[in-house]
Amino acid sequence: MLERRLSVLKYLGKTPFFATCERCHIKFFTARELKLVEAEQNMQEKFDSHKCRPDDVGQVAAWKK
Ligand SMILES: [Zn+2]
Repeated sequence: MLERRLSVLKYLGKTPFFATCERCHIKFFTARELKLVEAEQNMQEKFDSHKCRPDDVGQVAAWKK
């Protein structure tokens, strides 16, 4: 099983802009106007407060369509 981990996929300069949870693949965006530190905090907060989708339910439902 994959770990619940924040993975940044896209940076604007050095600012994290687009990230995903490696376990449930939920996506996180930050506003472009944020400064580097604010963006990192903002992304971390979003990540910390999200709940991973249950492994079996989400994946089975997505693949059967
Ligand atoms: Zn997750």
